Amino acid sequence: MKKECKDCGAELTIPQDSMVGEIITCPDCGTDFEIVSKTEDTVEMKEAESVGEDWGQ
Ligand SMILES: [Zn+2]
Repeated sequence: MKKECKDCGAELTIPQDSMVGEIITCPDCGTDFEIVSKTEDTVEMKEAESVGEDWGQ
């Protein structure tokens, strides 16, 4: 299954056996996307938030 990266437009490949809640990382820009819903032929993703992680100094 293929999906377009919302950030850079690169093609993301979603493994057929991926599950809701899994994180797909864009190979081009490195953005993490979380699978929020999945059916046999569609997949919905949202940009994964790094909740609870402090990236600042
Ligand atoms: Zn991207």
